This record gives sequence, structure tokens and C-alpha cells, in this order.
Amino acid sequence: MARKPAKTPKHTNGSAPAAVIEDRPISGSKEPPKQASAKLEAIPRVATVPPEPAGPPPQMEPMRTSKTEVIKRHDMWDQSLRQLDDVARLINLDPNVHSMLRHPKRTLEVSVPVRMDDGHVEVFQGYRVHHNQYRGPVKGGIRYHHEVSMEEVKALAMLMTWKCALMNIPYGGAKGGVVVDPRKLSEGELERLTRRFTSEIMIIIGPDKDIPAPDMGTNQQTMAWMMDTYATLLGHAVPQVVTGKPVSVGGSLGRIEATGRGVSYITAAVAKEMNLNLKGLRVAVQGAGNVGSNAAKALHELGARIIAISDVAGGVYDESGIDPFKLFAAMGPKDTVQAHHPGKKISNEELLKVECDVLIPAALGGVITERNAPEIKAKVIVEAANGPTTPEADKILEERRIIIVPDILANAGGVTVSYFEWVQGLQYYFWELDEINTRLHKVMSKAFSQLWALARRERVSLRTAALMISVNRVAEAAKSLGLFP
Ligand code: NAD
Repeated sequence: MARKPAKTPKHTNGSAPAAVIEDRPISGSKEPPKQASAKLEAIPRVATVPPEPAGPPPQMEPMRTSKTEVIKRHDMWDQSLRQLDDVARLINLDPNVHSMLRHPKRTLEVSVPVRMDDGHVEVFQGYRVHHNQYRGPVKGGIRYHHEVSMEEVKALAMLMTWKCALMNIPYGGAKGGVVVDPRKLSEGELERLTRRFTSEIMIIIGPDKDIPAPDMGTNQQTMAWMMDTYATLLGHAVPQVVTGKPVSVGGSLGRIEATGRGVSYITAAVAKEMNLNLKGLRVAVQGAGNVGSNAAKALHELGARIIAISDVAGGVYDESGIDPFKLFAAMGPKDTVQAHHPGKKISNEELLKVECDVLIPAALGGVITERNAPEIKAKVIVEAANGPTTPEADKILEERRIIIVPDILANAGGVTVSYFEWVQGLQYYFWELDEINTRLHKVMSKAFSQLWALARRERVSLRTAALMISVNRVAEAAKSLGLFP
């Protein structure tokens, strides 16, 4: 395909971004791998300059409870649509496919009556949405949160379509949720809620149609209850109906660490492209939960220096490097990093602004805002959390030429190993941990190099490039399938 001359950079929000991966890459990054570049020829070159104003990228999993946050959650679907519309213009998407992708394939709203411990019955609202199944059965988490809404679930289902397509795993996108604060329910109430919710959405889930997984407020135990309810009602075991379940009932080795491990692979890949030495790479991690702790450990193993890490109670800073293995081995489930590391104490806000090479937000959504974006000193932000950067901050960081690796790539290690878990379950043949990690590395590296190459070729941000690849892949599937009848 003949190359056009370089154009003004384009971005899905309609403005011309400054921090794009340019033909002359930032910080002396190297040429993209030839193979990845060649494969990208299938993606049409940017067709038109998007009109303005366009919508900001959606906030994927904000965990706060303020009024503003609630309003944002209700805006999520509109934002997701605007984001799709903008990318559709960029890749010259077939208008018929575009209009089909603007609608979820099916939405299900259910009432979930649960007998509470004191004997009364409480009715909870639940949702399951299938956004698109052109590329395969649908996949997505189940969220228990008191701010879950149909709009939010629809937006998150659409994002799962893009995430699975970006990783090139054969799933469409789904999401589900129940409007409940799980911290307020007893273990017994949670189990009854999960089992009744599973029976209510049973008409649309199944190992070859829709495979739920844990999300905010749910965990391995929730998946075990879902699987057991499904199997009990059918009368036989069906371990492939959910992923993220315990290893003792068919879960995959490496699933718990997968998201953090994937973050480390992506950090290593972007460091390589930017000619940053991984040995001694200065990394700050916000969040010391599943994703943050495992990302810190994996990066430490690769030779990076974790100079700051935090949890909800605050963080520690130590220029000489924090050993995350020692730190987490010493910590109980309710302990804080500040109580276990002698380094300088810093707040979560200060952590975002420390002088470092890579900043990894791995806790909440919406933490990098227009207020702190001007003071961030990292060269790269790897979005381990869902939606850590607000659309306003995104713009500022782009202008400041700080590279942002978007969440749909950076934290996709979780859904990728969920896919491996499903494949292992279907075969009743389980892989060794090193095989799982090798395959995860391969999938993530390939996705990264394709994304990097496209961003350079089209002079767009990594976020925009990610959506261009995803939407194009889904559109190709739509073209092959045609339209029934
Ligand atoms: P987690 O509950 O295990 O850990 C969250 C961490 O954030 C904890 O260390 C907690 O102390 C900290 N935290 C809470 N409130 C904070 C605050 N106000 N400021 C700073 N830190 C705070 O959660 P997780 O599974 O590690 O998920 C973290 C993020 O990654 C979320 O955005 C989640 O949606 C996203 N994510 C997780 C996975 C996964 O597989 N677990 C996959 C994709 C995306």
C-alpha cells in the first residue's frame, strides 16, 4: 500500500493531540517490528479529520461514590458512543456496521429476590449485557457495586468488545452487575444473591455463549458459586461457564497474577521502544492490591526499581528501591505499606507526582485529573487500573508529550489468562504455569507492537490507535458474517 505524506495528528476527541507516537518517535524509540507493521496494512489509513467536539474516553471502573462520579457513570454510555463515532470516522467504518456496533446485541434486566439473614426478602436489581458477538462468545465481568446501572454495564460491555479484539482473542464483549454494596451483606446473603442472580441470567450465559468473570466487588468465590449454581440446575459439571474461579475447581494457574504480570510485560515493551533501560527503571505504583502488588513484583524481577508504592492509607518513597517481595511477605491482609516500609511517607497524590520513568496507577479510576496532570513527572503512564486518567487529564498529558499506555492494553493480561482458563477447561487439560506465562507474554507483546506501529504510522495516541485496531477487527468480522436474514 502506498504511503501518504504525514498528516496533522488526529485524535478521537476531535482535537489535534500533541503527544502522539510520531514518525520521529519520542525519546529515540526504535523502528516497529517489520512483521507487525506489515500486518497493519489491513487497517485503512486515517480517512478524515474528525469533527469537533468529540467525546472523551469513558471512565471504565471508577470506584468513588461522589455525586460527580455518579453522573460520570451515567454518561459512560454516551461517551463510549462518541468514542466509537470518532474512531469510525478515522478508519472510514462502513456506516451499516457502525450503526450495528452502536447498539448492544441484547440487554437483560433482572430482579433478584434474596432472603436476608433477618428473614425479610430484599429485591436487588441485576443486569447482563451482550454488546457484540461477531468474533466469538461474549466475555466480561460481573460487578457488585451500589452504583451499577444499565448505562454503565452497556458501556463496559462495549469496552470488553474492544479489549478482546485488541488482544485478538476470540470473544465479543459482555458485562454484568448487581446494584448492591457487597460489604454490607453477610457471606450467606452474598452466596444467596449470587446463586439467585445466576439463575436469573442463566438464559443467556453458557460456556459457548457468555462466560462471566470476576470484576469489582466479586472474586474467585463468587465465580465458584456461579459455576456450582449453573451446574446444579443443569445436572452436570460445566467448569467452562465462568473464569477466574479457584484452581481447585478448574481455575487456571497464573490467573490471579495475570493482570499485574501483563502490566510488567507492557512496561518492558514500552521502555524498550523508548530506549529506557529496564535495569534500574524508576517505577512508581499507586495501589498495592492484586494488580499493583503483582505488577511491582514482576517488574522488580525484571530489574526495575520500585521507588514508590501506596495503598488506600498512603504510600512510601525510597530512592534506593523497595523490594516488593519482602514488603508483601511481611504484610497481613489489613496492613498498610507505610507500616511495613521504613521509606519516606508520601500521600497518594504525592505519589502521582514523584520524579520517575514510569507511573503505574493500579488502584482507582479517575485519579489522574486536570489538577495533577500538569505536575506529573513520569515519562510514561501505564494504565493498570481501569480508567485512571480523566479525558481532561488525557489532553494535558498528550500536550506534555507523556506517553499513556491505555488500560484496554495495559490491564488485558487478566482477560487473556481468563481465555486460557476457558480453553483449558474446554479441553480438560491444564497447562503448567511457565506455559501460561509464555503464552501471555506472546499475546501481549504482539498486541503492543501492532499498537505501537499503528500509532506511529498514523501519528495518533496509543489510546486512539488501540480503538482503531479493535473496531477494525470487529468490522472485518461483521463483513465476513453478513447480515441475517
Ligand atoms: P484490589 O482491591 O485488589 O486493590 C486495590 C488497591 O488500591 C489496594 O491496594 C487499595 O488499598 C488501593 N486503594 C483503594 N483506594 C485507594 C485510594 N483512594 N488511593 C490509592 N489507593 C487506593 O483491586 P485490583 O484487583 O488490584 O484492581 C485495581 C484496578 O485494576 C481497578 O481499577 C480494577 O478495575 C483494575 N483491573 C483489575 C483487574 C484484575 O484482574 N484484578 C483486571 C483489569 C483491571
